[in-house]
Amino acid sequence: MHARFLKSAAGADGFPEDSGVEVAVVGRSNSGKSSAINAILGRAGLARVSKTPGRTQLVNFFDLGAGRRLVDLPGYGFARVPDRIRAEWRDLVDAYFASRRSLIGLIVTVDVRRGLKDSDRVLLGFAGELGLAVSILLTKADKLSRGAGAARRLELEAELGEGTGVTLFSAQDGTGVEAARTGLEAWLGSRAKA
Ligand code: GDP
Repeated sequence: MHARFLKSAAGADGFPEDSGVEVAVVGRSNSGKSSAINAILGRAGLARVSKTPGRTQLVNFFDLGAGRRLVDLPGYGFARVPDRIRAEWRDLVDAYFASRRSLIGLIVTVDVRRGLKDSDRVLLGFAGELGLAVSILLTKADKLSRGAGAARRLELEAELGEGTGVTLFSAQDGTGVEAARTGLEAWLGSRAKA
């Protein structure tokens, strides 16, 4: 999948033109979102493996060609951030979801060892209201045995129901990377308006 960095935006006025189709990736901070983006797009270092919660939060757009984009939303769920940062996150992500008609699906990264947290559930509820397709990547699968990972995946599938795909994923050992890429291409391809 050929990808190039398009732009970063700290607010809706910086978002690129709302045409074509895009899929957004979001998750709790440290859930492995940046590593997942880099693995799926096959480009180490394209999405910055994130660190400090205090920094300016940005929405990063990657151009996949033919009017298709992957969008890296800022992570949420830092344990100790000032309310100001939390409010900034909400405003930015609200602005994103409210304005992007080209958005067709959401990939949510969830650390397989931690499972869904309240903040993930809020986000999934939000995606449901917007009628977005949702795919969950259970990240860092290399940290669990194969059996334990498979059990986590089945539990989550049972909880979320048929509409939500759940994929065991590891940027480290490559588990699920091809499946995630194929799923992304299917979403973007089926709705491409090139
Ligand atoms: P983000 O904050 O959600 O973007 O997460 P990052 O991609 O920055 O990863 C957070 C931490 O988890 C980093 O220390 C990564 O090296 C580590 N990590 C990410 N993906 C994997 C994985 O597949 N396996 C393992 N073992 N560690 C991972």
